[in-house]
Formats: sequence, C-alpha cells, structure tokens
Amino acid sequence: MAERLRLMCVHAHPDDESSKGAAVMAKYVDEGHDVLVVSCTGGERGDVLNPRLADDPHILRDLAQVRRDEMKRAQEILGVDHTWLGFVDSGLPEGDPLPPLPDGCFALEPLDVPTEALVREIRRFRPHVMTTYDENGGYPHPDHIMCHNVSMAAFEAAGDPTAYPQAGEPWQPLKIYYNQTFSRGRVVAFHEALTALGEESPYAAWLENWPPERERVVTTRVKCDAWFERRDAALLAHATQIDPDGNFFKVSREEQAKVWPWEDYEAALSYVPIVDGEDDLFAGLPTDVADADALATSTTLTIAHDGRKERTA
Ligand SMILES: [Zn+2]
Repeated sequence: MAERLRLMCVHAHPDDESSKGAAVMAKYVDEGHDVLVVSCTGGERGDVLNPRLADDPHILRDLAQVRRDEMKRAQEILGVDHTWLGFVDSGLPEGDPLPPLPDGCFALEPLDVPTEALVREIRRFRPHVMTTYDENGGYPHPDHIMCHNVSMAAFEAAGDPTAYPQAGEPWQPLKIYYNQTFSRGRVVAFHEALTALGEESPYAAWLENWPPERERVVTTRVKCDAWFERRDAALLAHATQIDPDGNFFKVSREEQAKVWPWEDYEAALSYVPIVDGEDDLFAGLPTDVADADALATSTTLTIAHDGRKERTA
C-alpha cells in the first residue's frame, strides 16, 4: 500500500509545470503520492511560440481559453491535480526602457493578496513538501519572481495561526525547494552529448554567457528518466507555447537518460535536515502519513536547513 504524502508545485504560468519538474511529479503520482500543481496566472499575455500555430484564428481569438484547455490536457497526462490561483499574467516586458507592467497584473498585486490565496490552498491541500522558483525567478520574468515571493511568504505564513486566520486551519509544509531543472550541470551534459554526436549545440552560447546568479547549489537530484516521455507529452500538450522543433527536444530522450536522468532541486527551507546527495523530495520525512501530518501541525518545529539567498538579478 503506497503512502500518500503530498507535494504542491507552485508555478507562474500554465506550461511552467511541464518544463520544470514534470517528470518528478509524474513519478510521485505513479508511486501513489498526491501532487497538486498551482498555476498563479492563466498565461493570458503569452505569445504563440509554436510557428506552426502562429496564424490560427481560433487561437488568436481566445488564447486564454486555449491555454486553459492545454493545461487540462497536460494535467491529465501527468496525472496531477491542478488549481488556478486566479491572477492575471503580467507579460514579459520588452524594450529599452522597459514599459510599465499592465494594471492589475499578478506582479503588481500587493503581496498579501496572492499570499492569502496560496495560504488557503496550502491549508486545504496540506502539502508536506512544496516547490517554487529561486529568488531570481529562475529567469527574470516578473511573474516568476512574484511566484517565488508569494510561495515563500505563504510557506512561512501557512503554519502561523495568527496569519490569515480566516484562510483555514494552520498547516506547516515541512520543506520548500526551488526547481533547478535547467541546472548548469544538465546544460553542460546536453552540450557535451550533442558535441560528441557531431551535432550543433544550441547550448554553447548559453554556457558562454551563464549569468552568475544561475550558479546554484543543487542539493537534490531525483532520478526520473522513466517519466521523460510523459514530461515531453505534457510539454507538447501546451501546443501554443512549445515549438516541437525547438531546443527542448534537441537531445533525444535516450541520450538524456544516459547523460542526465535526473531533475534538479535546491532546498530553500526545511524543518528536517537535508543530507548530502539527497535523491528524493520526501527524504527525511516520516514515511507514515499520520506521522508526517503530526509533524506538520506540531508547534515545536525549528528550521533545520536555510538555503535562501538575496536576490541579485
Ligand atoms: Zn512562466
């Protein structure tokens, strides 16, 4: 009988869940755990990134609905639960100087508003473990940085009975990780694999200009190559957002399984110790769910690991 521990993965836009940590989510689902994806925004301001669909009138008429449908399909493929937090995509500002963010968008919300919404979801779903993005957002999209800020604030508030008392019974998730799927180690491995096969590597320029804030401490590497096919199917379900001929699919799944069969994570805050070479997001937690639940509602928890950093990007 599988023990149903609970994992909540907080993401900025529909499709982020399929490009960051998707194989690990599918693995945990198959192992009998409960996995909930929370999408902070509806991706309303995304562009159509798949050249084959660029002029499709149905898509152009209502991209937001198309993206909801794509998310539903990806959710089914991964086998996860899903909820929309209900905020509006801020868009990726471009130009010099950058234009102001649009009124009412997620990144301009007062932090308390989305934090309360996420605290409510945490107290309802009662995750033992959460994932989000690092303090720089993983990449500097305003919604990704906001996703980090909201996730960290909600992680800290959810167990505090004095915080948002109207948003449910206190529940303290025991760990929160940053997705580091695009770790330098993985990009180097992909680059070397393509070079060894005599193929052109799109990663060469990327590695040359690797920003200092992307040098991360990967604490946890979860082997999940058996779920790469599901991950790719979920990614392709976001058909408007993914170019099937793009860089995501340059290295074959077989080659990926050989050179980098893991998804990478960085432990940010944890109430249980993070051991060297950790290979499981639930490591260190009681395997009995009742015991894990008791720990998450205990009033004597103290932080055992703090890997947080100051924002630099
Ligand atoms: Zn995104």
